[in-house]
Amino acid sequence: MAWRLIRFLLFLVVGGVAGYLIPAVWGGQLGALAGVCLASVFWVGIDLRRARKAMGWMRAGELDRVPAVPGLWGEAVDRVRRVLRTREQALVASDARLQDFLSAIQASPNGIILLDANNQIEWCNQTASQHWGLEQARDHLQHVGNLLRDPAFASYLAGGDYSGEVIVHAPRASSSRPMRLSVQLHRYAEQRKLMMSRDITVVEQADAMRRDFVANVSHEIRTPLTVLAGFVETLQTLPLNDDERRQYLALMAQQAHRMQSLVNDLLALSRLEGSPLPGSEDWMLVEDLMSRCQQEARQLSGMLSSDTHRISMTIDGPCQIAGSEDELLSAMLNLVNNAVRYTPAGGEVKLQWRMLDDGQGEFSVSDSGPGIAAEHIPRLTERFYRVDRSRSRDTGGTGLGLAIVKHVVQRHGAQLRIESVLGQGSVFTIVLPAGRVAPLKVEAAALA
Ligand code: ADP
Repeated sequence: MAWRLIRFLLFLVVGGVAGYLIPAVWGGQLGALAGVCLASVFWVGIDLRRARKAMGWMRAGELDRVPAVPGLWGEAVDRVRRVLRTREQALVASDARLQDFLSAIQASPNGIILLDANNQIEWCNQTASQHWGLEQARDHLQHVGNLLRDPAFASYLAGGDYSGEVIVHAPRASSSRPMRLSVQLHRYAEQRKLMMSRDITVVEQADAMRRDFVANVSHEIRTPLTVLAGFVETLQTLPLNDDERRQYLALMAQQAHRMQSLVNDLLALSRLEGSPLPGSEDWMLVEDLMSRCQQEARQLSGMLSSDTHRISMTIDGPCQIAGSEDELLSAMLNLVNNAVRYTPAGGEVKLQWRMLDDGQGEFSVSDSGPGIAAEHIPRLTERFYRVDRSRSRDTGGTGLGLAIVKHVVQRHGAQLRIESVLGQGSVFTIVLPAGRVAPLKVEAAALA
């Protein structure tokens, strides 16, 4: 600054000296004064020109087109440019942070809506759009109460106590696609609100299933337990002869066995749910599994009636399958047991194995039993679902057999197919994926 002042004074002196030396009308002293005046006008003129250039640039604010201005104005332009550049970088950084923050909210599995002080929608993430059927552009600054008309939500919003949540039906839910949402508001920054919605449909369904399951198990256990308690009381209070006592004890053993089967099936189910998926390293012969099924079927048939079933087994070629032997055998046995139990005495039960052209393998059990009406078929694998409750109980069924089969089949990446015609019999088929099926060459099969 001092240097600039010196330069200005020097410029004036030069102007004065020039005015003094140049012969003029007013003589030496006036000439010097005129020279000084002219020099300062010239200096100010140049300065104004530079100032105009600098001010023009500052008004336009174009950081990339900085004018070449020398002197003090040039320095000012440079300083302003540096300040603007720093501000711009800070802005870019804060914008990037904001974008990161919004992307994080976008990625949230919960719906998030930001409301202003008047409960108008300022922003919402995609999950909230899906939950409430909102469109960012269309519904921007709409009052949230106009869009979400659930009475429970309206009174929650008006009540002002947001310490808890409110459960509502999603506006787009239908009876075929139910969706229940848990909604909670959180206050932030002077009367603004963050509205969070969580899809609790699956949780509620799982809860209902768990409640049903506990109720079913209790009911299933209570029935034989009541019968047992009745017999115990009879044995304790009534004078019975040996024959009667033997008869009562046999009935008690039957009920105890029923409870045992139920507990065994429950344990089998929980083992299936809790254990890791079966690998494809352990191979077993289909023929071995089927022979054991046939043997059990014959035993069961003999136990159920004197006029036993006709039980046959067909294998279209020696084959190995991979998976958990215990699980696959229990699934196959469940199907075979059902076929024997539900088919009247003297009926026919066929066990069959065949390879499909695409490499898959099919194990099927067909019977000449009563068949199953079409409306029951999709529900047969539900726990405790029974078409014929009394027949199931009379033959020692627990209502869990097909649920176990479904689990085993799913764990092996296989499929369960059920075909049945009322009055003509049923066919239950397990279709194993090609990766778990390996046909054996005849010589290898003979060695095995
Ligand atoms: P359960 O222990 O009662 O047999 P499952 O889960 O094995 O339970 O079977 C469910 C229901 O499916 C049975 O109660 C029965 O009504 C029906 N069902 C299963 N297999 C057959 C079959 N082969 N023939 C007719 N009905 C069957």
